[in-house]
Amino acid sequence: MTLTILGCGAALPTKTRHPSAYILTVQDHVFLIDCGEGTQSQLERYSIKRSKIRQIFISHLHGDHVFGLMGLLTSYSLFGRTEAITLFSPEGLEEMIRVQLRITQSHLSYTLHFQVVDTEMSHLIFEDAKVTVHSIPLKHRVPTAGFLFREKELPRNIRPEKITEYNIPFVAIKSIKNGATFTLPSGEIVENTELTLAPPVPRSFAYCSDTMYYPPIVPIVKNIDLLYHEATFCENFASQATISMHSTAKQAALIAKAAQVKKLVIGHYSPRYNENEQFLVEAVTIFENTCLAEEGKVIEIGNW
Ligand SMILES: [Zn+2]
Ligand SMILES: [Zn+2]
Repeated sequence: MTLTILGCGAALPTKTRHPSAYILTVQDHVFLIDCGEGTQSQLERYSIKRSKIRQIFISHLHGDHVFGLMGLLTSYSLFGRTEAITLFSPEGLEEMIRVQLRITQSHLSYTLHFQVVDTEMSHLIFEDAKVTVHSIPLKHRVPTAGFLFREKELPRNIRPEKITEYNIPFVAIKSIKNGATFTLPSGEIVENTELTLAPPVPRSFAYCSDTMYYPPIVPIVKNIDLLYHEATFCENFASQATISMHSTAKQAALIAKAAQVKKLVIGHYSPRYNENEQFLVEAVTIFENTCLAEEGKVIEIGNW
C-alpha cells in the first residue's frame, strides 16, 4: 500500500503547490483521491498510469478538490477508454459533470457511475476480495467525507516444502490455509503453525480533508497505519481555521494522538505560508511520528 502525493496545497494553485490530489495504490487498485486543478499533469509528471484508475474518491465539491476532474474525464475519451469509472462523492457531483458534458458537447467513450456518499455517518462504500473502503463524516463548510481504506486479512500461506514432506493432497490445502491441522495416515496430527506462514499484516490508510477539528472521527481511524489529516493553518491563524472550518497542524496532531495511529501526514497548506516547516514543528510537539505532505513524495504505508 503506497500513497503518492500529487498536490497538497489549499485553495488555489501556486508556483510551488498544486491543490489536493493523491494516489493510493493498494493490491491491484490505483485509487485517485480528490482531483484538484493540474491533476492530469501531475499524473504524467510522477508516471502514474491513469488508465489503471477505476475508482475516484472526491471528498467534497470545493474547487481545490474537484476542478481537475472534468479535464481528466474527457481526456480518457481522447485515449479511447472503454472501462467504466466509479466516482464516489457527496451529493452534487453528477449534476456538475453532466452540465459540463452537455454544454461542451463532450461524449464519453466509457460509462461513468456516480455513487453518492453519506457525509453524516460512516458507511462501507466499496469492497472487493482484498480491500474495503468506508466513508468518514467530516465537518466543513459544505458536505464532506473522508475515506478509510483497509486491506482485508488474507489466509495464511502454506509452506510448499510441507506439502511434499507430508504428501498433503490438493483438496486439503484450502482448509489448512484457513487454520486447519493435517492428520497423517499414522493418526499423528501436524499443527497448522508448522504447515503455514502468517500472511502479511493488513495495512490501513485514512484521508481526512477538509475538516475542522472534529473528534468524532477518532474512533473510526483508531490504530490505523497512516492518517492523512489536513492542516491548513498553523496556530498563528487558529481563529481563521475556526472561521473557515479547517484545522491547524496542532489539531491534526491531536486527532492522530487520540486515535493512536502509527503515522500522521499533514497537508492542504494555506497559500499564506511559503514554507511548510512551521506545520511540522507544531505537529510534532503533540504527535512525534508526523511527516509533511510534499509533491512527489511516495509513502510506503506500514513500512516503519
Ligand atoms: Zn480544500
Ligand atoms: Zn474545502
